[in-house]
Amino acid sequence: MTNTPKKNTVVKKAVPPAKHCPYCNEEMQALNLPVCQACHTEVQYCPHCGLPLNKGTNTCKTCGH
Ligand SMILES: [Zn+2]
Ligand SMILES: [Zn+2]
Repeated sequence: MTNTPKKNTVVKKAVPPAKHCPYCNEEMQALNLPVCQACHTEVQYCPHCGLPLNKGTNTCKTCGH
């Protein structure tokens, strides 16, 4: 048996962040609704980078918008 090392040349695309509630960390059930079904908090996403915004703020902590 020749042990040929496998090359990991598969380029993975950037995996989008899992749809978990940023507030209670529960999995978002209704992906068509921006409301967490567990804590009933409306989740707002940054229109620039798509990451969830902090509760009560309209400023994205990631990209600053
Ligand atoms: Zn939640
Ligand atoms: Zn952003």
